[in-house]
Amino acid sequence: MGTTSFPSLGLSDWLVGQVNAVGIKDPTPVQVNCIPPILEGRDCIGCSKTGSGKTAAFALPILHRLSEDPYGVFALVLTPTRELAYQIAEQFRVFGSHIGLKDVVVVGGIDMMKQGLSLAKKPHIVIATPGRLADHLANTDTVSLKRIKFLVLDEADRLLDPSFEEALEVIFDHLPKKRQTLLFSATLTDTIGRLREVATNEPFCWEAPREEATVEELDQKYVLMPAKVKDCYLIYLMEHLHNEEKKTLILFTPTCRSCQVYSILLRNLDYPCVALHSILSQSQRLASLNKFKSGHVRILVATDVASRGLDIPTVDVVVNVNIPASSKDYIHRVGRTARAGRGGLALSLVTQYDIDRLKSIEENIKTTLTEYDSKESEVLKLLNSVNVAKREVEIRLGDTDFGERRKINKRKRKLLEGYVKARKTKKKT
Ligand code: AMP
Repeated sequence: MGTTSFPSLGLSDWLVGQVNAVGIKDPTPVQVNCIPPILEGRDCIGCSKTGSGKTAAFALPILHRLSEDPYGVFALVLTPTRELAYQIAEQFRVFGSHIGLKDVVVVGGIDMMKQGLSLAKKPHIVIATPGRLADHLANTDTVSLKRIKFLVLDEADRLLDPSFEEALEVIFDHLPKKRQTLLFSATLTDTIGRLREVATNEPFCWEAPREEATVEELDQKYVLMPAKVKDCYLIYLMEHLHNEEKKTLILFTPTCRSCQVYSILLRNLDYPCVALHSILSQSQRLASLNKFKSGHVRILVATDVASRGLDIPTVDVVVNVNIPASSKDYIHRVGRTARAGRGGLALSLVTQYDIDRLKSIEENIKTTLTEYDSKESEVLKLLNSVNVAKREVEIRLGDTDFGERRKINKRKRKLLEGYVKARKTKKKT
């Protein structure tokens, strides 16, 4: 990928050996540009798309420094989704096995007591989603982060969303002022100012060339349809893409509920699929992802929880069942296909209500989507069977306590808010 070698970046021989042992020969641009300043001790803001080797760009210099002075907790990595946390941990384990690296993944959906016990053992690296870590810090004394050398915010722009604000405030309260802060994301544009507030230690800023935002190998199309027959179109597309063309697909849906509805609908109509959304338990989420990654099923129905960072190299088609509100989300979603130089198709289902949104996305990505060829007469033949099947799913789901977990999470957030307010009052007095 590049002309620079790993040893010339300043990494220890053992780390170069580990990297080579897993078949990685040359550093990628984000690694060439970010590893040396991180080793110099500078804060870093790195902007590069997923799959570009971002994780190794922060994991390698952290492991280099850790091996010089090993103790726990040495580094904290925050990331917005549980799946990303596991993915990051895997890379740390691969590169760090030589030095007996101990890591703990702290995410929701896992027994808190067990997690607390693992944290109490002072792992070298903690990889966490903000909500659960804040929960531990606010309510238990199991771990101290006061001596960490590195704080990493992966998918930093997403972490700076208001939804993470309370949890981040609790976490930042428990961190030392003197530390190295590394921020990585695929899209940074409008949050760069806020990132500079977080990374204060002479931040080094590197952004991958702009044209990487949506790749050339990606074919971007739309299907225009009246909203009331959207489900029919979706099933028609599945018949072609999944059954006839044997493609591997991710379907993005707007909410956890719609994700669940579509996954049941597809299964009932004999399209084997798995679902990934935040109301599922963590073991269900991991099981879904594993079935999809291993090729056991070729359809993943997901919310935006799957739109960022996930390293799934073989997705042929991304279907936007809804048009995302921002072009940033669109870029993340379609970035799940056409990875590593392969071709890919992004197909957006557009109704009369989505036209303005689509236009604004087209302006932002500087690409005009072309129309996907579909036969309305064929689609309408499915109308009755799809409508009946959809109604059955809605009735079935109407009787379940879907959304209960969300209520629990809301209650937890309220508790954290209380913690933040109490801390603020304490600081003032
Ligand atoms: P990312 O999600 O950006 O961290 O990229 C992850 C994928 O890229 C993983 O499968 C890594 O093993 C792989 N990777 C990381 N660094 C390199 C490199 N220098 N050359 C080739 N692949 C790499």
